[in-house]
Amino acid sequence: MKCPDCGHENRVGVLLCEKCGADLYEVLLERVATRQLSKFQTREFSANGASPSSNPIVAYVAGYDQPFAIERRNGIIAGRGTEKEGIDLDLTDYGAQDLGVSRRHARFDTQSNNPIVIDLNSTNGVYVNDSRIAANQAYVLRSGDEVKLGRMVVRIYFK
Ligand SMILES: [Zn+2]
Repeated sequence: MKCPDCGHENRVGVLLCEKCGADLYEVLLERVATRQLSKFQTREFSANGASPSSNPIVAYVAGYDQPFAIERRNGIIAGRGTEKEGIDLDLTDYGAQDLGVSRRHARFDTQSNNPIVIDLNSTNGVYVNDSRIAANQAYVLRSGDEVKLGRMVVRIYFK
């Protein structure tokens, strides 16, 4: 993870830049597309808000400069497809099909301070920090974790 403030190449998974101390969550949050953040504006979006619902999860796909935000609510289905098809988080634009992401791959429950991921019995599995998690069982995530959906590597940060 390269610090956008000072350029230092940090080890993966660190939360504060090892050189300048910048909060990587805040730094990544600033890089989330404005058009995407506008979706959260009605929720009094603020990086310093007391409630986790106002602090989106920032997700950063390996190989892509632009992170995206995942809102803080339960039952977010990640995979490939449209909202009409029941997919809340469509990863098609990140090469999901080639990377072995199933149509309904994983569910994220992010409303609480301890967001969880559930593998929805996907073909190629969900890995957290290189360990495959059991299908249909909640796995508690920590900020800085690497979540792999099939072969798609996603680093997540949250507060
Ligand atoms: Zn830095």
